[in-house]
Amino acid sequence: MAFEGLAERLQGTLTKIRGKGKVSEQDIKEMMREVRLALLEADVNFKVVKQFIADVKEKALGQEVMKSLTPGQQVIKVVNEELTALMGGEQSKIAVSQKPPTVIMMVGLQGAGKTTASAKLANHLRKKHNRTPLLVAADIYRPAAIKQLETLGKQIDMPVFSLGDQVSPVDIAKQAVEKAKAEHHDYVLIDTAGRLHVDQELMEELSQIKETVQPDEILLVVDAMTGQDAVNVAETFNDQLGLTGAILSKLDGDTRGGAAISVKAVTNTPIKFAGMGEKIDQLEPFHPERMASRILG
Ligand code: GDP
Repeated sequence: MAFEGLAERLQGTLTKIRGKGKVSEQDIKEMMREVRLALLEADVNFKVVKQFIADVKEKALGQEVMKSLTPGQQVIKVVNEELTALMGGEQSKIAVSQKPPTVIMMVGLQGAGKTTASAKLANHLRKKHNRTPLLVAADIYRPAAIKQLETLGKQIDMPVFSLGDQVSPVDIAKQAVEKAKAEHHDYVLIDTAGRLHVDQELMEELSQIKETVQPDEILLVVDAMTGQDAVNVAETFNDQLGLTGAILSKLDGDTRGGAAISVKAVTNTPIKFAGMGEKIDQLEPFHPERMASRILG
């Protein structure tokens, strides 16, 4: 599971200050030095770390004394609050269009976990929100992507709209939304094509799909295992398309995780879900507060 190293180091550092009856400026400085190292080691983006440390210092030094907590506990509370804010603060929920269907474009690089996340999200929407999604196979370039989505659809008994790989993704998306309207699907999840690297052709095609179907959500699936590259990818997709959210995939893996949580801070794109395994039900709504508490113990 991601963040294990970070959790261990932060908890170790914070334990030292927890019981303190008096916390001096020097104590806070020393603690923040360790927190900074722990975050950098966990691969949190360096600009994000800098801002985080400045925010915590300012708050920890400026806060009123609370009777219910020891000074050490108060500092930890500030760290918890700031870590929660860093990861997005309030939980960011999936959009619901006033006029169904809600159209969701799933975007990301090849191998990020987009197809898997599309099926997982459709499954989540049906199971937890009683929705009737339509999955759309618009990744016509990656060999077997269409088949993969169809197989996943079959597995969970979810309809998959596909026109093969000879029709343009823009037309596939357009026809899929029409079909969804006619057949009263309340969500349309379009699995778009990825590339190994961001390229202009891909972005143009995605922009065309966006213009054509006017999605309510453009969700970027980012692989938490890819480190700082995840942040760069998120910046590029956000600049070109305007993301409404991110899904962090493979958080179950052996990743330090810091880059993934930097995605929110760098792009101001809320993290909506986390992929916690290959199985279809291993998708969890992302709760910044719970994640911060898990990390800080
Ligand atoms: P796409 O090219 O972006 O559509 O990527 P896929 O959906 O085909 O996923 C690529 C690989 O990552 C597959 O082997 C998936 O099973 C795996 N994968 C996707 N999401 C997760 C996840 O949350 N955890 C783990 N461990 N593997 C995942």
